[in-house]
Amino acid sequence: MQLCYNCGNEFPEENITREHIPAQNLFVGYGNEYKVNRLVVPACFDCNNQYSQIDQEIRDAIGVMNNHNDDQIELTRKSIKSIMRQKNWADRLHFSDGKVLSVNFSYDDLKKLHIKNFKGVFYAKYKRPLPKDFEVEIIAEGDEENEKLMGIGKLFYDYVVQNDEFLISGHEDIFMYNIKTMNPTDSEYVIDNGDVENSLCVIGVFVYHKNLCSIVIASKKEFLDRIRQKKR
Ligand SMILES: [Zn+2]
Repeated sequence: MQLCYNCGNEFPEENITREHIPAQNLFVGYGNEYKVNRLVVPACFDCNNQYSQIDQEIRDAIGVMNNHNDDQIELTRKSIKSIMRQKNWADRLHFSDGKVLSVNFSYDDLKKLHIKNFKGVFYAKYKRPLPKDFEVEIIAEGDEENEKLMGIGKLFYDYVVQNDEFLISGHEDIFMYNIKTMNPTDSEYVIDNGDVENSLCVIGVFVYHKNLCSIVIASKKEFLDRIRQKKR
């Protein structure tokens, strides 16, 4: 039997599908040299399928944030096509002086994809799915330059990637990440000892295309409720 990285359920080996973390659409227009040692995790059919409707959301967000980066031309083209294909596309655009100023994204869909990537990275590192009594929450998300530095997000960011300890799936231009546990000690310090069950929380930091950053945290409910209160 196999365990699914996402739902954590067992399924028979012959039904295995493989999920790339991050989604393959983030590599559109990039050569094979960008697809080195990508993270791949085992997924059940249902989980693999359930993201196919929203998988384009992170790609589209990155595509429209493209700031004259030639490597991203193909990706931006696909993003714009994908956004225009949706029924409500005109409602998502904000105009100023006749120019498109910004595009709305479904926060819920982006959030689901960040959580999916968190679970994928978790599986790849700890060789098992996230325990079922853990809940997942996004701490900070948005433009890498600004929002990661906000409040509690910065504390977590610095803990996970102190000295720029990033790992890479594919290429650093596509997806940089790290994930750590935060475990209490006898002193005032917390440490990353990999003991998920006895951790305060598990934190993941993801940087997509050196542009979009998200900080994702998983823990048992009580700790997460305290964080949610601080976010307000
Ligand atoms: Zn599953």
